[in-house]
Amino acid sequence: MISEKMKGYVKNSSAIRAMFEEGKKMAAIYGAENVYDFSLGNPNVPAPEEVAEAIRTILDTEDPVLVHGYMNNSGYEDVRGAVAASLNKRFGTAYEAKNILMTVGAAGGMNVFFKTLLNPGDEVVTVSPYFGEYRSYVGNYDGKLIAVPADAVTFQPDAAAIREAITERTRALILNSPNNPTGAVYTRESLVAVAEVLREAEEKYGQPIYLFSDEPYREIAYDGVEIPWMPSLYADTVVGYSYSKSLSLPGERIGYLVIPSEIEGFEDFIGAANTANRILGFVNAPSLMQRAVAKCLDCKTDVAYYDTNRKLLTGHLSATGFTFVKPDGAFYLWIKSPVADEKEFVRKAKEERILIVPGSSFGCAGWVRLAYCVAKETVEGALPGFTRLAEFYGLK
Ligand code: PLP
Repeated sequence: MISEKMKGYVKNSSAIRAMFEEGKKMAAIYGAENVYDFSLGNPNVPAPEEVAEAIRTILDTEDPVLVHGYMNNSGYEDVRGAVAASLNKRFGTAYEAKNILMTVGAAGGMNVFFKTLLNPGDEVVTVSPYFGEYRSYVGNYDGKLIAVPADAVTFQPDAAAIREAITERTRALILNSPNNPTGAVYTRESLVAVAEVLREAEEKYGQPIYLFSDEPYREIAYDGVEIPWMPSLYADTVVGYSYSKSLSLPGERIGYLVIPSEIEGFEDFIGAANTANRILGFVNAPSLMQRAVAKCLDCKTDVAYYDTNRKLLTGHLSATGFTFVKPDGAFYLWIKSPVADEKEFVRKAKEERILIVPGSSFGCAGWVRLAYCVAKETVEGALPGFTRLAEFYGLK
């Protein structure tokens, strides 16, 4: 028998993963080249060559006992120091190794954060649409996720609505920019407004409300758009970073938390987070990958590859009459369903062998998400299908 709690998780199991499985079945029937699978945020760009080189160098030159051994639960001291120095160079900060905790991807980092922070019944606010796993990660520690709709046109966070949602039980706010699923990048102006609301709420309730800035897409942004460094706008910020997208290493499970010394209760927090990383069973982030990413801190993924897909899609969807949010970052396109029930649109798109994910998976019905981290040929192959869908729904 499985637990009641797990029964709930299994029942609500990810529609995104289900669509991905469906895509594989369809590919077996029609041929992979005839299925346009935009369901999963799995980067199609290979990891930069420097990653493989770094791994080879480490295996060839470093002490295997060290490379494959246990270390401090927060990660290798030298790796954390190198990450801190790299952030300091980019953001003018003064982090040290003690401010960095290497994690099992962004997902591992978020679980460490919530394990550290939440008592049962505590509330965590986020902006919808949101990455659906937030509900599971908060639920893992019997917290309650409170979703606050973003602005209905720009999909920027709505500071006034966040103010309304905060209660004495609120322990944290999750923000994710560049955003999955909308592709929106939150502007400095909207982030300053949210920071002000959080400061007011801390004052009102007399306790810290931590901001978790979930940043796996920080490096994937277009046209020089600014992505502000959140700790410089709000002191009680913890940043969650991941190499899953920035270096195309999602299966390697590597990322880190930045826990600035300025956050309230820093010493307790860092000690607890270190313990959380251990007792959640991660023990530590994968050791070879820690050492590899430390050698690749200045490496970049091929953002131009995603940008080509972005331009192809947005150009075509505009021309055929679809409404969507201008994607300034990440590799997602958030498209308004031409019919109220977006699941109906998802089904219709499947007839064109186009696989997209209903917005209800992200807490926002009436829209769909398209992940364009795919081959350019997949995008090109799907365009005629989008034209037919536009005609079917009489968009122009
Ligand atoms: N947060 C967001 C917004 C994501 O989109 C994802 C993955 O798609 C994650 C966190 C988890 O990333 P990771 O693979 O680093 O655990």
